[in-house]
Amino acid sequence: MESPKITKHFTWRDASCKCGKCGPMPDTIIDNVVELAERLEKVVVTANKLVKKFKLNLEEITLTITSWYRCYSKDAHGLGLAVDISCRDNVHRYLLIAAAIICGFNRIGTYVLTTDRKIIHLDIDNTNPLIRPPYQLWVES
Ligand SMILES: [Zn+2]
Repeated sequence: MESPKITKHFTWRDASCKCGKCGPMPDTIIDNVVELAERLEKVVVTANKLVKKFKLNLEEITLTITSWYRCYSKDAHGLGLAVDISCRDNVHRYLLIAAAIICGFNRIGTYVLTTDRKIIHLDIDNTNPLIRPPYQLWVES
């Protein structure tokens, strides 16, 4: 059976912790997940508008979530306020980051874990600006 949807493109399965040990997502996280899903919908729309605007010959952009809520995380993932998206190539990285910035994301990370595992981290955690400062774009490998 298909997992229930949060918004048009994202399901509760996308958002759930993948550790395999925890139970359902805590109630305190749910509003955060919904807010992030709504923000991500805007990123999808904007990324596809950029494809048109730049006349790129690309298939419709979708976001493939690799990690969202993580029960064991002390960072924004632990609050349901961060998501990792797999990123195909440099063109898609440009489009996704441009769209995220246009849509007001101010904490973005890019990771190249292996040659075929490239990730973009987007988060909307502004709950603790001293620990997680806004207006950050970090790069890690
Ligand atoms: Zn878990």
